[in-house]
Amino acid sequence: MFNICRHISKLHPNNIRSSSFLLSFRNMSSNYLNTSDSGSTDLNLNAAEKLEKHCFARFDDIEKSPQDVREYRGLHLQNGMKVLLISDINTDLSAAALSVQVGHMSDPDYLPGLAHFCEHMLFLGTEKYPDENGYTTYLSQNGGSSNAATYSLMTKYHFNVAPDKLDGALDRFAQFFIAPLFTSSATDREINAVNSEYEKNLSSDLWRVKQVHHHLAKRSHPYSKFGSGNKSTLCDIPKSKNINVRDELLSFHKKWYSANIMYLSVIGKESLNELEEMVVGKFLEIENKNVVLPDWSRHPYDDEKYGLKVMILPIKDVRSLTISFTTDDLTKFYKSAPDSYLTHLIGHEGKGSLLAELRKLGWCNDLLAGCQNILNAFGFFDIVVNLTQEGMNHIDDVINIIFQYIQLLRQEEPKKWIFDECCNINEMRFRFKDKEQPDTLVQNAVTAMQIYPLEQVLSAPYLTKEWRPDLIIDLLTELVPSKCRIILVSQSFQEVTTETEPYFKTNYGTEKINAETIKEWENCLLNKNLALPLPNAFIPDNFEIVPLDTDFCKHPIIILDTPILRVWHKQDDQYLKPKACMAFDFSNPIAYVDPLNCNLNQLMVELLKDQLSEYLYDAVLAGLKLQLTPKSTGIEFAISGYNDKQVVLLEKLLDHLFDFDVNEKRFEIIKEEYTRTLKNFKAEQPFQHSIYYLALILTENAWSNNELLDALELVTHERVLNYAKKFFDRLHTECFIYGNVTKQHASNISVIVNKKLESTNSKLLPLLARQMLKKREYKLFNGDSYLFENDHKYHKCSCVQLYFQCGAQSDKMNIMVNLVSQILTEPCYDCLRTKEQLGYIVLSSNRKVNGAVGLRIIVQSTKHPSFVEDRIENFLENFLKSIENMSIEEFERHKDALAVKKLEKPKTIFQQYKKFLNEIALAQYHFERNEAEVIILRKIGREEFVQFFKNCISRNGMERRVLSVHIISQQFGVDIETAEDKLITNMDHHTKITDLAQFKSSKELYSIALPYLDIKAKGARSKL
Ligand SMILES: [Zn+2]
Repeated sequence: MFNICRHISKLHPNNIRSSSFLLSFRNMSSNYLNTSDSGSTDLNLNAAEKLEKHCFARFDDIEKSPQDVREYRGLHLQNGMKVLLISDINTDLSAAALSVQVGHMSDPDYLPGLAHFCEHMLFLGTEKYPDENGYTTYLSQNGGSSNAATYSLMTKYHFNVAPDKLDGALDRFAQFFIAPLFTSSATDREINAVNSEYEKNLSSDLWRVKQVHHHLAKRSHPYSKFGSGNKSTLCDIPKSKNINVRDELLSFHKKWYSANIMYLSVIGKESLNELEEMVVGKFLEIENKNVVLPDWSRHPYDDEKYGLKVMILPIKDVRSLTISFTTDDLTKFYKSAPDSYLTHLIGHEGKGSLLAELRKLGWCNDLLAGCQNILNAFGFFDIVVNLTQEGMNHIDDVINIIFQYIQLLRQEEPKKWIFDECCNINEMRFRFKDKEQPDTLVQNAVTAMQIYPLEQVLSAPYLTKEWRPDLIIDLLTELVPSKCRIILVSQSFQEVTTETEPYFKTNYGTEKINAETIKEWENCLLNKNLALPLPNAFIPDNFEIVPLDTDFCKHPIIILDTPILRVWHKQDDQYLKPKACMAFDFSNPIAYVDPLNCNLNQLMVELLKDQLSEYLYDAVLAGLKLQLTPKSTGIEFAISGYNDKQVVLLEKLLDHLFDFDVNEKRFEIIKEEYTRTLKNFKAEQPFQHSIYYLALILTENAWSNNELLDALELVTHERVLNYAKKFFDRLHTECFIYGNVTKQHASNISVIVNKKLESTNSKLLPLLARQMLKKREYKLFNGDSYLFENDHKYHKCSCVQLYFQCGAQSDKMNIMVNLVSQILTEPCYDCLRTKEQLGYIVLSSNRKVNGAVGLRIIVQSTKHPSFVEDRIENFLENFLKSIENMSIEEFERHKDALAVKKLEKPKTIFQQYKKFLNEIALAQYHFERNEAEVIILRKIGREEFVQFFKNCISRNGMERRVLSVHIISQQFGVDIETAEDKLITNMDHHTKITDLAQFKSSKELYSIALPYLDIKAKGARSKL
């Protein structure tokens, strides 16, 4: 798999697990503002006075990417709050984020989950805006949305909204931190949402393993806490001890929500001065309680936890080995990043790497090396290996090889050229950075502001400038066997996992590693198969932006069209980066004719990825992204990133594809992994099952996971080889090339692909257009009402998905269903989750697939799906009343909000490419779809809308077509206590689907809309 070692992702501040204040404002006394010479000549006197009064410091010299046209300003408010303002007059969405440096490590010992609960409660009403759903309604009616998250030492809130509604949204947002209500009725109800969130995670191995880590920490260390909380820790236990949770919420907020540990970032279309006025006026009111952050630099584990193997029993069939070293918080060394140097090498996948060696031995498939830092506290340096079946028999040998590699790093000493190479790549990433989504930008900023000085808050995550081999050597001395913990996860540990973690009930066991073994690892010799990487040949050196073609077109156009190859091209004139994206869609109808071929196609792709991974790793590091994806029509591969070396890569890839060969041992390993992936689906969340079954029922041709598993018996090494031969022997290829590429260059690429195709039988007998028709959707009849039920063995929750099929896709139908979803989403969430507390996952959206469009509502709940379905119907009845009574103004506001979302421009070259590619892949070529839909949207009247809802969604609608999917937890029945649950609603109005073949044969298929442009179907023309 194309894994990137974590040192790259680590550079995104968002991935920093938790944080603390410190570096900001430490060495910037020289930049503290003199209001008289702030350099902002356009500042009017009034604002200048305000500034003098409210801002302690201002920074206008934020270091940014050279091509970044947004303007930035840092503020240090009088109340201690740090702010980053971003002005972008062209932004089509405004956004804000606020982080406060308190998380679940600060929960009182007697109330696990309080910080998280507080995060939930802040949304539910403030003194100034007491309405429980006032904030979310305001956002949803103005094209926005919001979310929040609680970490070990940080809680983060964010929202986005239409640009001219920023002021109103910020005013509501600021009140969270000034005067939240925490009403007792909301407190009593919202506890259920927190509990459902916990229940949703109960069967997730990620959460289970994580909690075992916390559980094994010292009892006295806050790292040992249970952060998410549940009904028992936040309601039942406190009740029995006479603890009033609402009072605790108030005092937690009072104690920790202090301006001096808060970081705010806001992006808007206003000027910096206007933004400053807006922010100062609203956020200065937040009290400064002069919170002093606790010192948590103590390591969380006792000595005896080192030199120990911890075995954990997972729910899914997964196998992993983690070597975890406890370190100090390394973010303080961000200028030299010694951890990034080491994770770059340990996580390398090229020739001579640790992974290459472990793969060759057949012991492992993937490896990750990464650091997690809990700011101002401590950190973990982790190496994670996914083991094969054979690898399970060689655990100690795998660990030995890892220590051999670390030994090599010590022996070779830190290399300046490797550091320089990483710096160059990162500098390049910063220089040609894509424009961030407004919400991503502010969310990353409020985390980064806790780590870096304000002037470097944008650049520091990318630019590492100091070569400090001494720090690398220091860190290497920490990476020794006596200082690590070993964590093993596998279902084979049934016998030895005799202990149970209390919150997730995960079985685990521990075993002392004998001193002999540790000594062996400590004194391991060098392994001659391991070596440092060679210089990376894929680093681009040509960043030239090519001149615009004289016959430049606004939309993609076909530049080559033969019976075997069609090439689309579009030169970029918007983003002007030295980047390009290209997709190659290889179609052959044999790919999905039956479950056997579907498996063969899938395995061919996995094997290709496996073969290429060593070679491609350098390309990935140098900013080229490669994707090889199996599809029901064949396979697609795509290259994106810097355009300079893309052709070298393309040629290499094509050679591999058309000359496919495979090692038998690798085949066995990949097949085993694929089998487990298919089997593990049964442990996925119930709501994912509901989505999967709905697609299985309604799609013209779809094989189920169980059918694929049955067909796996027949999958052999020879069969995959034969399949690949057949697949590449007769196919049609459609390419799309977009970005910093002229038409001439695109034509040259076409020649390379064409040459490959001409060497096959494709030319002699090209595929007919009729062999490549698009998949279609089964059409329910008016008045149809179907129910499909299936069990879920692993989750405590059940799930219902109520799907309303609305009709064939057209501009009108699409935007109408979009509008229903726009108006319905917020009240649906407010009613089913906030008020009725049915469950943590409450979703509603439109579903647009295979030529049809519809609306779906999904609720994952511990209550029975029949009961929940009845509550959804009840909500829909009330919703009809509310839209019948909705004022024209409110209705128009929703239309505007939807228009804002529809007209949001793609921010990056890659997003624009995906948008074009989608139209090409669907053979619709409707390149201005959103604009066309908005024109129709403007004309939709309220009456027409209500009529549509009555017809298609309401219980007695003439054109209502329903498919309800119930995923029923097998643990259901154990937990039902309330009377309403026992009253399972009668579902006789549905017809049950029990036989898929029979159901499908009784239905018609939707037609596919004709292409928007007059372009004939790809492939050879029919001869009649
Ligand atoms: Zn939550």
